[in-house]
Amino acid sequence: MSEVAAAFRELYGTEPDGVWAAPGRVNLIGEYTDFNEGFVMPLALPHTAVAAVSRRTDGVLRIHSADIDGPLVELRVDELEPLSGAGWAAYPAGVVWALREAGHEVTGADIHLTSTVPTGAGLSSSAALEVVTALALRDVFQIHLSMDELARLAQQAENSFVGVPCGIMDQTASACCTAGHVLHLDTRDLAMRQIPFDLPAHGLRLLVVDTRVKHALGDGAYAERRAGCERGARELGVRSLREVAYAQLPEALVQLSSPTVRDYVRHVVSDNERVARVASLLAAGDVRGVGPVLTEGHASLRDDLRVSCAELDLVVDTAVAAGALGARMTGGGFGGSAIVLVEEPAVGPVSKALVAAFEGAGLTRPRVFEAVPSAGARRVG
Ligand code: ADP
Ligand code: MG
Repeated sequence: MSEVAAAFRELYGTEPDGVWAAPGRVNLIGEYTDFNEGFVMPLALPHTAVAAVSRRTDGVLRIHSADIDGPLVELRVDELEPLSGAGWAAYPAGVVWALREAGHEVTGADIHLTSTVPTGAGLSSSAALEVVTALALRDVFQIHLSMDELARLAQQAENSFVGVPCGIMDQTASACCTAGHVLHLDTRDLAMRQIPFDLPAHGLRLLVVDTRVKHALGDGAYAERRAGCERGARELGVRSLREVAYAQLPEALVQLSSPTVRDYVRHVVSDNERVARVASLLAAGDVRGVGPVLTEGHASLRDDLRVSCAELDLVVDTAVAAGALGARMTGGGFGGSAIVLVEEPAVGPVSKALVAAFEGAGLTRPRVFEAVPSAGARRVG
């Protein structure tokens, strides 16, 4: 971390006030449920965005990323305009904007960022960037904000300033996950439960497989799924699809006019149920039992919500055929990453099978790494 402080010193000519880190995440189960006030179960990755930050009092905001080949971005805090297309700098600048919109006195800052979270791989590099910025500014300006309030402001930055209509899962995961646990999150009121997730103790591993593809289709499709879910809730006369109990699903489905909306509703209501099932399995110590639930969730995302793609399906089919306990796409889909639950001795064979399958299909070699449930956002220096 001192490397980041040294880079800050070189860039700005002074010591930073501190250094902070915030992780990327993978979601174990509960996909496209967070904008339906539903349930999700993410874990933080060991990969983090790290920020060295100093407070300023002259209204100047300077932002630099070690990972972007470009100059220092210099802005004024009182001239920040939502949706003004500031590129990557819109993520940290949006956090400054959101804090100020919420009435917090943020009078400028020097920020130097770097991140080990793969970008655009469905692992929430954007949320990591927002949350690390929000935490750093909270501390240097001594703002009273709980971690879940901080996550909401980070989401506000992404929704309103950057212009990405994401739900609350990613920022909450980055802010609130703890090492060795998955986070059971109720996105209606941000009620949280840390559930122990010690896979090595059970002889298991969770792999992340980054397909390294991102299909352009994704952005419009997300908004379309969201609109479809909202329409479903309207037609059913509920505030959100969260209100539809799994036991009521058959009678809810027959009330819906469009087959597409019916499919979307089936996915959301059944994925909420899968989160509950995984929570029960983990509570009972049946971690292996989680595998088939993941694969079932993938089928729902593929067939009902239709947000998977050939590369993600290839990961899931190959992994399961090679002996994995279960697998599914994670995140928004249309590329990005999948997760695979495996017995420890199967890590090698499953990884090899994945690489061979991608090679055989003429695809770029996927990146495979272990998801070790890690700490949420924190000060590191
Ligand atoms: P994801 O969050 O799944 O990684 P997004 O498209 O939401 O994908 O966010 C990726 C964007 O976040 C990048 O295109 C870039 O603008 C910004 N970003 C992420 N990490 C960095 C970084 N280290 N430096 C600068 N910008 C970053
Ligand atoms: Mg993102």
